[in-house]
Amino acid sequence: MIVTANIDEVRQLRWAVPNLTWGFVPTMGYLHAGHLSLVQLSLAGNDKTAVSIFINPTQFAPTEDLSTYPRNLAGDLAFLEAAGVDLVFTPSDALMYPPGFQTTVSLSQVTQPLEGSSRPTHFAGVATVVAKLFNIVQPTRAYFGQKDAQQTIVLRQMVRDLNFNLEMVIGPTSREPDGLAMSSRNALLSAENRAAAPVVYRALSAANAAYEAGERFGEVLRQIMIEMITAVPQARIDYVSAADPRTLQELDVVEEGVLLSTAVFFGNTRLIDNILI
Ligand code: AMP
Repeated sequence: MIVTANIDEVRQLRWAVPNLTWGFVPTMGYLHAGHLSLVQLSLAGNDKTAVSIFINPTQFAPTEDLSTYPRNLAGDLAFLEAAGVDLVFTPSDALMYPPGFQTTVSLSQVTQPLEGSSRPTHFAGVATVVAKLFNIVQPTRAYFGQKDAQQTIVLRQMVRDLNFNLEMVIGPTSREPDGLAMSSRNALLSAENRAAAPVVYRALSAANAAYEAGERFGEVLRQIMIEMITAVPQARIDYVSAADPRTLQELDVVEEGVLLSTAVFFGNTRLIDNILI
């Protein structure tokens, strides 16, 4: 496994044998089984697999958890080596954002609701860094998790709009045995908050069950989630949503599919999760 923080070296390796397919999994590190599931999809679907580890500062607002975001580069590299990854790109902030950097990729619509309403600068940071990573790695396929549902919609739109020559592959959400979606941020939870956090998936599952039983009013689905989450004193709701999975607009009546999603604070840690019906 080659580990490098050098853009030219990444491009050389990528194009050393031009007709090989490359899968690419961008991450912020502190890797867990959810990341590994995307790596395994990439290993199975491509000749070579590249992973990036970069905690992108521009997708964090000044009030957010950039400084406390968990890191463990040595552990991550051992994990990726054992998985059979070919290339790991570990750029520095200065390499990605050198003095004089002035370009932003921003999307006007799908970035606005849900995560965008709570984190207005987040997706411009994500789209810009992913565009840069795509241009550096030039993968055949890029792998993202359904866990970050809106991110997958934003990045698919960016790939369409900017004609990136790659295929987007979305992998399912990996969960802990108690249903909590795996996340690097779970490591930041106190024991008490960790014990409370599975309510997020329980609430989504309850709304999902109501849908399966025939409930079609968006407001009823949202209310089911609100009631379950507010019953847990450690949880503070940022938003709950039953939205159109394409436009992300809240639905009054669910006719075709629905994206049930929520963001919930436990202490200072903000967790997101979703179920796509
Ligand atoms: P992150 O390191 O949090 O930026 O995540 C890197 C990639 O892993 C993103 O595409 C995430 O959507 C994906 N990911 C994070 N958590 C999970 C999970 N529990 N299951 C599947 N994919 C995940």
